[in-house]
Amino acid sequence: MDVGISRVNRYVPWLTLPHAVWARAWGERAKEGVTSRAVANFDEDALTMAVDAASPIADGARAIFLASTSAPLIEGSPAARVAGALGLDEVHTVDFGGSQRAAGDAAILAVDAVRAGRGPIVVVASDTRIAEPGSRFEPTWNDGALAFRVEANAGIAARVVAMASVSDPVAVAWRADGERFVTSDESRAGSDALKSATQAALKLAGVGSVKTIGWTELPAWLARAERGETVAAVATGDGATVVVLESVKPLPLSALRSPKPLTDYNDYARRRGLIGTALVGPVVSSVLERQEAASLISLAGGRCRSCGQTQYPRSVRCVKCHALATQDAARVAREGRVFTYTVDSLFDGWEKETVMAVVDLDDGARVYVQITDVTPSEVAVGLRVRLTYRRLHHADGKPLYYWKARPE
Ligand SMILES: [Zn+2]
Repeated sequence: MDVGISRVNRYVPWLTLPHAVWARAWGERAKEGVTSRAVANFDEDALTMAVDAASPIADGARAIFLASTSAPLIEGSPAARVAGALGLDEVHTVDFGGSQRAAGDAAILAVDAVRAGRGPIVVVASDTRIAEPGSRFEPTWNDGALAFRVEANAGIAARVVAMASVSDPVAVAWRADGERFVTSDESRAGSDALKSATQAALKLAGVGSVKTIGWTELPAWLARAERGETVAAVATGDGATVVVLESVKPLPLSALRSPKPLTDYNDYARRRGLIGTALVGPVVSSVLERQEAASLISLAGGRCRSCGQTQYPRSVRCVKCHALATQDAARVAREGRVFTYTVDSLFDGWEKETVMAVVDLDDGARVYVQITDVTPSEVAVGLRVRLTYRRLHHADGKPLYYWKARPE
């Protein structure tokens, strides 16, 4: 039985921090070859980016494996919350963390589980690691997420031919409990240790000379690899994990939206929560959260048994045919267009201007949501948008999330 990767999707935040902007703020000379890094917006974190990355490829998945060293919750499973936002019921959710090789470990265990008949499984790697402000890592560590679907036979784009992992007890990057910033070993010894761990893992996997890539390079490799071409996807951190893949068929790469460069380091620092205070909002009781989970987390609405109309929220009477009690729970579409909108400059929100819109989703349901990742002048009636799960505020030590829309 061939097990491999059938689909892949990446999520890269809209904002970037140009290296020149970072260098100007710290009085450093800009380094050659460093251009800019992706920056998660104020309402994003590893959990929300994981939802965005996994959303187009998660239908029918039986497990969600989330790999992150920067998830917003230590206890209170982020993977379970990702599955909820994806509208998946009765799935096995597992959180992988502790090391930058967590994504590789999740991939290996996903392949084993699929071979044991427990697929398909969506593996998501998502991180917003925070380097110490002013450190050399700050202008290079990208925020982002990668999701891939592991399943058997049908439709796989690359099959797994070998895999192995080796462990190293000396940490090259670390963040102790309660610490905010990741510390990384800048010495030659650190990078040498990761290289030799990679060689050891490749040997253990039984492959000699094979091209290696990082997991973030996987979508590009899947798009251009010739049939039969092999590559080893490597994840390093406290050892190394390798998954050797053989291309079966190309997987087209979807285009990314043009990024928006930040022009001010302070704006970056504020959006990443390095300065200023976090938004604190009203506490939502667990009882209420549980009652409304299908509607608020999974964004389930209703579909009329008489006329087929989808609506949000689900209600007693159909908005189209006015029939009573004909609605079955149904997850609403995640894409649509702006029907009408308003730009609110009085609301004391995070941005100077808050855009609120009525969005007509592609299945006919209509939702009222905030538009995020947008310059207000870009918004127009008819603008194509995609729903995106975002962090609203903190309450009682817990981050709270809801759906917004972003331009496609
Ligand atoms: Zn109806």
